[in-house]
Amino acid sequence: MNQKEILQFDREHLWHPYTSTIDPLPTYLVSHAKGCTIYLEDGTALTDGMSSWWACIHGYNHPRLNAAIEKQLHKMSHVMFGGLTHRPAVELASRLISILPSGLDQLFYADSGSVAVEVAMKMAMQYAQSNGSSRKKHFVTIRSGYHGDTWHAMSVCDPVTGMHGIFSGTLPVQYFLPQPSCRFGEEWRPEVMDPLKDLLAQHAQDLAALILEPIVQGAGGMYFYHPRYLVEAIRLAHEAGVLVIFDEIATGFGRTGKFFALEWAGVVPDILCIGKSLTGGYMTLSATVTHKAIADIICSGEAKCFMHGPTFMGNPLACSVALESLSLLLESDWQERIYAIEQQMKRELALARNSSKVAEVRVLGAIGVIETKEPVNMAKLQKRCIELGVWIRPFGKLCYIMPPYIITSKELTKLTSALIDIATF
Ligand SMILES: *Cc1c(COP(=O)(O)O)cnc(C)c1O
Repeated sequence: MNQKEILQFDREHLWHPYTSTIDPLPTYLVSHAKGCTIYLEDGTALTDGMSSWWACIHGYNHPRLNAAIEKQLHKMSHVMFGGLTHRPAVELASRLISILPSGLDQLFYADSGSVAVEVAMKMAMQYAQSNGSSRKKHFVTIRSGYHGDTWHAMSVCDPVTGMHGIFSGTLPVQYFLPQPSCRFGEEWRPEVMDPLKDLLAQHAQDLAALILEPIVQGAGGMYFYHPRYLVEAIRLAHEAGVLVIFDEIATGFGRTGKFFALEWAGVVPDILCIGKSLTGGYMTLSATVTHKAIADIICSGEAKCFMHGPTFMGNPLACSVALESLSLLLESDWQERIYAIEQQMKRELALARNSSKVAEVRVLGAIGVIETKEPVNMAKLQKRCIELGVWIRPFGKLCYIMPPYIITSKELTKLTSALIDIATF
């Protein structure tokens, strides 16, 4: 098939994320990618501002990541995890547990972020059952969150911008608190906790867990809130006998300037989800981690085990590349890299504040956001980005970049000026 035929077939037969079959947005044909550049088949080179949705932190086509996956490929690409185990799964888990806050030492491999969230919610549910708290069937979260596209993950996404409207009446009913109005970097206001306090006073007996994206709400609004919220939320939830799940699928592995975003608050949740950049953007893999004591309670219930086991659980290729990605990150001066990216984005994106179209500019770690006053025209802006030689994909009122950590200062300037261009276009 020539380029035109490929794109035509794609348009006629393939679904892309959140797209219409009736009037699909154009797609661009990628031939290869290297470092921070994505190359289209027509020769266009695009500087990547998305890290392929938070995942590709070391850039594309990394020699060490390639080598790790190739080495594993010649041993086996997969074996079932039921009754069998292998070095990549064990060594990755051991490495992860050693860098996670102490206590988070019982790890479950899942296939994607959404599934990791489903697994976390099932853990909380089985935990409640084992404890004889059969009323604890609901979850509480804050508005503007995003936790994935599968059924229960969807039920804790923002009730307005998420998919509650479309699936109303069929999704499990959950409790929603206001988005924490106290932002990252602001002075703490204790009254921000009142809605959670009130809800727990009324409904703690119905709640299996509180689920939060720590510090940074990603796809639900690119919003940064005060770390103290997490400290207080954990305290209040635990006093009320409610578990706390942190979804670090977007924030894990350095993105916010700390290795895990929870470190901003110095807290440890009962259950933690990681994914996205876990494999350096090479393959889909996620994990749900809890405490041995919680795991043992889950497994002392009626089922006598945790009721989940995906076909491709602990995939050796994915675990191998994740292990190498983790080594690369830990060997690098990631903290300085991200700080430099943050400082440069703060400096360069500040210019956008002069535009009457811009509502707000915010930067945290390697995340730079320009919020516009009106929703952007994605089709138009996508085309503009290609013209500018960058890959940025805005949505709603949010134009943002979260580049690979290896980005050079020159490449980053290209991204920030393009971001300002499209936000004020
Ligand atoms: C992307 C994301 C998910 C879902 O992960 P998938 O791999 O797309 O299923 C869940 N939670 C957060 C915070 C995310 O950013």
